[in-house]
Amino acid sequence: MIDSGIKKKISDVVGRDYVLDSELNRFGYSYDSSFIPLLPENRPDLVVLPRTAEEVSRIMAVACEEEIPVTPRGAASGRTGGSIPLRGGISLCLDRMTKITELDERNMMVTAEAGVRTIDLYNHCAAKGLFFPPDPASWKFSTIGGNVAENAGGMRAVKYGVTKNYVMGLEVVLVDGAILWTGGKAIKNVTGYDLTSLFTGSEGTLGIITRALFRLIPMPKRRGTLQVMFRNLDDGCRTIHTMLLSGIVPAAAEIMDRTCLEVVARHRKTELDPEVGACIIIEIDGDDDASLEIQAKRIEDVAISCGAVTFRAARSQQEADEIWAVRRGISSAVAALAPHRIGEDISVPRDAFPEVVRRIREISEKHGFTIAVYGHAGDGNIHPSLLCDLSKPGEQERVHRAVDDIFAAALSVGGTLSGEHGIGITKRPYIRDALGEIGIRTLKAVKAALDPKGLLNPGKIW
Ligand SMILES: Cc1cc2nc3c(=O)[nH]c(=O)nc-3n(C[C@H](O)[C@H](O)[C@H](O)COP(=O)(O)OP(=O)(O)OC[C@H]3O[C@@H](n4cnc5c(N)ncnc54)[C@H](O)[C@@H]3O)c2cc1C
Repeated sequence: MIDSGIKKKISDVVGRDYVLDSELNRFGYSYDSSFIPLLPENRPDLVVLPRTAEEVSRIMAVACEEEIPVTPRGAASGRTGGSIPLRGGISLCLDRMTKITELDERNMMVTAEAGVRTIDLYNHCAAKGLFFPPDPASWKFSTIGGNVAENAGGMRAVKYGVTKNYVMGLEVVLVDGAILWTGGKAIKNVTGYDLTSLFTGSEGTLGIITRALFRLIPMPKRRGTLQVMFRNLDDGCRTIHTMLLSGIVPAAAEIMDRTCLEVVARHRKTELDPEVGACIIIEIDGDDDASLEIQAKRIEDVAISCGAVTFRAARSQQEADEIWAVRRGISSAVAALAPHRIGEDISVPRDAFPEVVRRIREISEKHGFTIAVYGHAGDGNIHPSLLCDLSKPGEQERVHRAVDDIFAAALSVGGTLSGEHGIGITKRPYIRDALGEIGIRTLKAVKAALDPKGLLNPGKIW
């Protein structure tokens, strides 16, 4: 319970304008992009919008003393309910912390506050010829704090890795308000436990990330975009696999099934070739046009040998943007196909991709749902989207059974529950199957050491 005395203490830290407690505001901060049905008890009692790490530290000191749950929040673009305040308390929204505090060109590193939008960080570095590769499809609105907390991935993960591959250090406010700096600019650093990695992907359950130090790489000088159509997903998967085995590593290799392509065609009022059942979009990069041409030719040869129906190389930036707009818009476009869309995020060893896609098709037939399939085929991360109507009697249970089957299929081939969206609320029931008793016990021991009262983002992960 947050009484007026506590509210006053918090207002004294951030200013009255940045403490919100109207019904409307509490409602506005009670959901994220997981579209989990809203419950009245999931509303924060107070929404607090700090501007600096020192303010966060003072708020946490109050919360810790008064035993108030705190749920950190970036842009609420999370897909698994991570920023929903399950036990009320404070919704701590970091999106006023938007300073990029240092671009160290000599060391190729950048330091930014948690509320900086991913795309703003990318553009800031790109202006100096430096490349921040993690590019979640949500990058126009997601924050880097949320990206670190979820260890966000993106389309370029196949060549450049995910957020954790770029985090060099973090400023973290601990549950009692202490401010910790982990890591630093030294490339090699094995002094003590790797706390930077521990907080990366911790989903707001271990501390509040207020600032991050990222390494950068030189911006590739040229980029090319290829779009290849296939009769079926198997041919597309085989192309990506053969390409990687023959040493061609594209910056991105995205795959979409016919359902996704139909939605796009409907949106654009274009005809879809009846022969086409899948599409892959590939980004290649390099130092000059000649290297792009060589890569494109090799990929074309592989694609044709694997049964490609059409192969197109974008001839201008506009064409490339048009091709990528299709992929970036898929998530929202597929969601419009049915009253509800349950989007999953399994990740499997790359060579198991076709097998899992086949099993998803069987699951779709068994349970009678359309399941649209798209994903980052280059790194084995699949987003099956179940299209359903949860207002129908029994639909919720049928969806659960279909999701159970999807996770079972992923785990049976050595895959995992989440490639990039985290566990949050939606995948909690499955984490024991994925990690086992000893895995869970170890996670809980870490949690107990850093947050003994269980105040940080309670109810998440398990
Ligand atoms: C259309 C769409 C496309 C997407 N595409 C991708 C994609 O390609 N790849 C991908 O990985 N994800 C994707 N996502 C999911 C989402 O954008 C990412 O998980 C993103 O990293 C969340 O950032 P956020 O700022 O919105 O965080 P939020 O959703 O606000 O929070 C996410 C989690 O992080 C915690 N958190 C947030 N900020 C902090 C902080 N400063 N300190 C500690 N904990 C914190 C929250 O408590 C919560 O548990 C997509 C989402 C949408 C809606």
